[in-house]
Amino acid sequence: MKIAVVGTGVAGAYLMNRLTSEHQVEAFEMRSEKNWYTVCAWGTSQPFIRDLVKKAGFEFDDYVLHKGKKMLVDLGDEMLEIPLKGLVTYDKHRLTHDMIKDKKVHWGSQVKEANGDLRDFDMVVDATGLHRSLLPALKEDIVIPSLEYQVKSKELPYDDFIIKPYPHVTGYWWYFPLGDGTAHVGAGDLRGSYRGELDAFVKKYNCEVVRRMGRPVRVTPPKHCEPFFDGKVVGVGESIGTVYPMLGEGIIPSMQCVNLLVENLGDREEYRREVLEHFEVYSKVYDFVKSKIEGRFRLWRMLPTLLGIYWYMHSNTERYGLETRLSDFYKIVTRL
Ligand SMILES: Cc1cc2nc3c(=O)[nH]c(=O)nc-3n(C[C@H](O)[C@H](O)[C@H](O)COP(=O)(O)OP(=O)(O)OC[C@H]3O[C@@H](n4cnc5c(N)ncnc54)[C@H](O)[C@@H]3O)c2cc1C
Repeated sequence: MKIAVVGTGVAGAYLMNRLTSEHQVEAFEMRSEKNWYTVCAWGTSQPFIRDLVKKAGFEFDDYVLHKGKKMLVDLGDEMLEIPLKGLVTYDKHRLTHDMIKDKKVHWGSQVKEANGDLRDFDMVVDATGLHRSLLPALKEDIVIPSLEYQVKSKELPYDDFIIKPYPHVTGYWWYFPLGDGTAHVGAGDLRGSYRGELDAFVKKYNCEVVRRMGRPVRVTPPKHCEPFFDGKVVGVGESIGTVYPMLGEGIIPSMQCVNLLVENLGDREEYRREVLEHFEVYSKVYDFVKSKIEGRFRLWRMLPTLLGIYWYMHSNTERYGLETRLSDFYKIVTRL
């Protein structure tokens, strides 16, 4: 098959390495190679992602920057200390670039439709993330604006992960260490209430800002991101909502989504079914987040949903690289 992969974020780059050589694959990326960047905090679970990355022929451990021991969650009146079981930061930019550097990539090619320049391709993959450039617009779509600085300083105040959720779970402020006196400091919030916070941090800790970046994150789950297809276009990754809503975590889910696509390349209906099944819990998390945002949250009414989410997180320690304890979970969902 002749396949065009539109977008070289984590989903597109991973897909380029997961398709077998029987296919003829070319990528189209709207940014020039010089201006292309993986906007992200680069946090993920090492024990879980390692195998996914290996499937693409790369060694994840070669890209690790910081191995976390604990994550502080600042609730305002209390600081929770979450034990970490594999949460790390890694050089996502270098790994993603390594995944595409020997591939055929048309840099600076913004694709707007599948039939013009791409008419010779049998399949066109929409891996354009938030843009969802080739699939129909969504009726319901929650995207969280975010801003992030990569900073460098001798006076950085923390030596491990720390997050500060905003009221009503509309987002959170984060500090993710990158090793060597550098870190990602960022914030994503539906209400944009982080403005000024990052600059205040930079000033207070005498930081050099290595890079300023930002883009909204889609937290709408796959269930509300249909259709996944349009003619010969097939969506993968954040374009079809594979981001864990409460955390804004989309690296591993995008790769998992790619693997579902590769396993079902000739069977769209089965791909659709497996994506919906695999990411079903994301809909529960989304319902919870939405009820908080809209001021409809009632503990007793949400209890079955919350227990489902808690049990999922608790039983997936390795997947998320952190331990989910009932007392922490209860405090986070009820106090915010
Ligand atoms: C600030 C921030 C911090 C985050 N932190 C984390 C984190 O720590 N851990 C985690 O797991 N997740 C994190 N996420 C989420 C995660 O980064 C994304 O969900 C994931 O990168 C989605 O991958 P993707 O390949 O689907 O899309 P993207 O990574 O967005 O890639 C899409 C690509 O398509 C290109 N493109 C778009 N439109 C077109 C077009 N029309 N033609 C050609 N090219 C196009 C873009 O330039 C881009 O290169 C974060 C997100 C943000 C914004």
